Amino acid sequence: MVVERAQIPPEGLDLEVREEPCWDGVKGLWLSLAPVQASLHLEREVNGILASGTFSTTAVVPCSRCSESVAVPVSDSFTILYTEAREAFRDEEVELSAAEMDVDTMQDDRLDVTRLLRENVLLNLPLQPLCRVDCRGLCPHCGVNLNESSCGCQVQEGDPRLAPLQHLL
Ligand SMILES: [Zn+2]
Ligand SMILES: [Zn+2]
Repeated sequence: MVVERAQIPPEGLDLEVREEPCWDGVKGLWLSLAPVQASLHLEREVNGILASGTFSTTAVVPCSRCSESVAVPVSDSFTILYTEAREAFRDEEVELSAAEMDVDTMQDDRLDVTRLLRENVLLNLPLQPLCRVDCRGLCPHCGVNLNESSCGCQVQEGDPRLAPLQHLL
């Protein structure tokens, strides 16, 4: 979805967006991603478009410890000033406001809402998703899922408290 700057009325434009995430370059980042729901408010600026709003979706990703799939809510709010690439950071006003908001570039006086949502979803994906806070993960030796069963490997490793004394024995 693309919005032309000229389409935005002086009072701004409110949009409710439901984006099916058929996006390039996201292969392997999740097992599945629900449609992204977003509320956007766009304002026409002299050199660009000020986009603010919120989005939410649910990503199904592998647990970083045990690889079981886990559904993670992904949501955030954003305020981003999109300026034409050639104008970026030249305008004093833009530089001043850059401290409080994100600044990004757009092309041909059009805001690519699909790209905006894609980037915000990617920024908010959990780095180390867990199926539960106390996930025990997989045994590094035999690969068994320690949430579901136990194995004998840890017993064989011996008492870790004795490890510093090992060289004395
Ligand atoms: Zn897990
Ligand atoms: Zn094991």
